[in-house]
Amino acid sequence: MSKNIGLFWIKDDFRFHKNLALIEATKKHDHVVAFYLYKKHKFLKQEAQRWWVCKSLEDFKKRLDKININLEIIETSSYKSFFEKLFQKKDINIYWNKTYEPDYLKFDNYLSTNFKINQIHFKIFKGNILNEFEEVKKADGTPFKVFTPYWRNAEKFYIEKVPSIQKSISKCKKKLSFFKKTMNLGEISPKNQWSKKFEKYWYPSEENALKNLRAFIKVIENYSNSRNFPSISGTSKLSPYIKHGQIHVETIWEECSKIKRPGVNKFLTEIGWREFNHTLINNFPYMLKGNYSKKFDKFPWVKNQKLLNAWKKGKTGYPIVDAGMRELYSTGWMHNRVRMIVGSFLVKHLLINWMEGEKYFRECLLDYSEANNISGWQWVAGCGADAAPYFRIFNPILQGEKFDKEGLYVKKWVSELKNVPKKFVHKPWELNDEKILKLGKDYPLPIVVHEEARSKALLAFKKI
Ligand SMILES: Cc1cc2nc3c(=O)[nH]c(=O)nc-3n(C[C@H](O)[C@H](O)[C@H](O)COP(=O)(O)OP(=O)(O)OC[C@H]3O[C@@H](n4cnc5c(N)ncnc54)[C@H](O)[C@@H]3O)c2cc1C
Repeated sequence: MSKNIGLFWIKDDFRFHKNLALIEATKKHDHVVAFYLYKKHKFLKQEAQRWWVCKSLEDFKKRLDKININLEIIETSSYKSFFEKLFQKKDINIYWNKTYEPDYLKFDNYLSTNFKINQIHFKIFKGNILNEFEEVKKADGTPFKVFTPYWRNAEKFYIEKVPSIQKSISKCKKKLSFFKKTMNLGEISPKNQWSKKFEKYWYPSEENALKNLRAFIKVIENYSNSRNFPSISGTSKLSPYIKHGQIHVETIWEECSKIKRPGVNKFLTEIGWREFNHTLINNFPYMLKGNYSKKFDKFPWVKNQKLLNAWKKGKTGYPIVDAGMRELYSTGWMHNRVRMIVGSFLVKHLLINWMEGEKYFRECLLDYSEANNISGWQWVAGCGADAAPYFRIFNPILQGEKFDKEGLYVKKWVSELKNVPKKFVHKPWELNDEKILKLGKDYPLPIVVHEEARSKALLAFKKI
């Protein structure tokens, strides 16, 4: 095998633009092979992720083909066993971008040591983040735990940095195969009917990510307000593209910085929350396995499979909660305001441990990200850094009436309520008209009573 072969390890990097590892590989080598490591057990409980990844591989393969790069999919039980074999090859160069999860970063250290020992040329690049998480620290060198001062510093730091220079990807001389045993996309694509539904809503590609960003920027001036209303397209819906690296957050920053419109700052602040969450899980990795705030270790969570299933299926009897859970199941995505409402309902009305919600979101979300999901759930539960206080309990009726006044969102996802007048759409139990709705038959009665649940939650909170 030629010394001049460059390997590019694809993780969450399905893009050409600002893909530093791929750019370097094509600049330095006449022949490049891209490879994706497929861990079957990782996807067993993450079918939504599997769907997005397979579609992304399909699109990316076509684009790489055009520049003479073969994309090879390799099944492996663990990254370690795969790389142990790769260390034996002396004639390769390998490149990849960082993934900001503690296990990946730890693994990067292991790889660095072993590639060095085996005298294999390798280079690791900055991944999909504005600032490396170690770069933004308090004056005393410790990590920030509160978002606002963090973002004030992080934003300034990013702006003052020399912007990364974008070199373009070169076409390779000839397409080559490198790995002996590779897989076809057909072998790894999900076979179930559930994920087929996503095709109606999403097309995972870099081109689409950029198109969506530009379309969103045209209406960004209303973002600060419209982002709260789930029945309108008030947010960018870029999260799955960002998660899988179809778009780099620097590109979002640059496109937004070109315009001076209201809404831009608020939008970039949300990107800031993503940055903050990544710094949190890397500075406090114990929060990946439990509560950031240790006092919550004693919280008297309730184990109740029946209530948990009703929540998952969108059958709690609270329309805004049910609409959110059904939107999630149907589209692999849920509006942020509604994520907060359904999350609060699970942990405060049902007193079910946030980890159950985190697990279910992990299974269903196309944008599932360890940093954002764990931090999002701990924010909702009140046990995270800079979290919503536990005693602030969302009232699902008032939330519905405020953010879905006309009931359009609820009616879209909970078709049983389509004929319910808007006055009752968030509290159908007050309707009392069996010709329109038979409660308990067409649509469930509330599984808990709001006021009682609220009192119980406050009592439980007092115990810690
Ligand atoms: C319980 C819970 C779980 C969540 N799980 C995830 C998850 O697994 N993956 C995920 O990407 N987001 C998660 N979020 C954050 C947020 O809900 C989504 O990022 C957002 O709804 C995505 O929609 P959008 O792209 O239209 O967002 P926009 O409003 O257009 O925001 C642009 C981008 O900023 C980032 N962003 C926006 N809001 C947040 C936030 N609150 N925290 C962190 N980043 C944010 C996302 O990357 C998003 O794509 C979670 C929130 C909660 C409350």
